[in-house]
Amino acid sequence: MAEHLIVYGHGQGDPGAGGNGYQEATFTRNILGPHLEKYAKQLKKNKVKFYDKSLDMYQQTQTGKGAYSVSTKTASVTELHLDAASSSATGGHVIISSSFSPDKYDVAIAAVIGKYVGWWGSVKNTKGINKRSDLLNLNVFAKRGISYRLVELGFITNKNDVDKLVKNIDAVAKDLIEAITGEKISGTASKPAAAKPVAKPKPTPAKPAVIQLKVDGQFGNATARRLQEYFNTAGKDGIISHQYKQKYNQNIYAAQFDKTLIGSNVVVALQKWLKVEADGLCGKATIIALQKRMGTTADGFISPVSDCVKELQRRLNKNKL
Ligand SMILES: [Zn+2]
Repeated sequence: MAEHLIVYGHGQGDPGAGGNGYQEATFTRNILGPHLEKYAKQLKKNKVKFYDKSLDMYQQTQTGKGAYSVSTKTASVTELHLDAASSSATGGHVIISSSFSPDKYDVAIAAVIGKYVGWWGSVKNTKGINKRSDLLNLNVFAKRGISYRLVELGFITNKNDVDKLVKNIDAVAKDLIEAITGEKISGTASKPAAAKPVAKPKPTPAKPAVIQLKVDGQFGNATARRLQEYFNTAGKDGIISHQYKQKYNQNIYAAQFDKTLIGSNVVVALQKWLKVEADGLCGKATIIALQKRMGTTADGFISPVSDCVKELQRRLNKNKL
């Protein structure tokens, strides 16, 4: 009996990206999750387990748990996310390590996305598969020899993508469980939900032009991604790569820490804007400059819930730093 693992992305204080009334962490856990869990129970030859919903595997991996704690006997790991960009970006994709070729599960999962949401433009010629080497869990699982993929189900920032997922949620879940395990589940999924009666149109307030962050003072992936959008840096993935861990920056949840001193594009952009040395590493001097600019206590230290980050989020929501 093969045992597969499904991981809901973000969580543990990080809501992930937001759009169209949803957040990534709660969409996968609360909207899609119950349907996945229902079909997982109907499997006869395979087992699907779910990673602890109260945790964010990404944050756990950063502390040496998470991806490091998954048994090497696990047949496959599938981490579920939604993408975010401008409201016109559409389609989903399956991310695998650039050191591998897609396996049958990757192809099957990508086919499910293609069927219900369509593929993101950049992966149309690769059957919905995108290869990367800059994601933490992806790299840890690759190193450990455990089959892993990160699935972007569609763009949470695209109303059409979200509508398609929500309308077909039960069928999407059934097909995903089948794709992940390679096992057919008997019975048919619930029909797409009937369109809700249309309420009398009322004047809608002007939509904010940018994704609205929760002002929670936590520097997670959604905040990093908005910052990447704001500075229009390459790779708007919500990850602040190649940071050097210190007490000052250890609570930047979006940071990926290593010892390379390579730094990150978005930090370079932030540093240029702050007029400090642009080495791409968000250390004490950069944080002090940011705190001064945000008008908060300039102690050079990002707290787990930070006033400086709250102000940054407020300004990002107004799209004016
Ligand atoms: Zn995500």
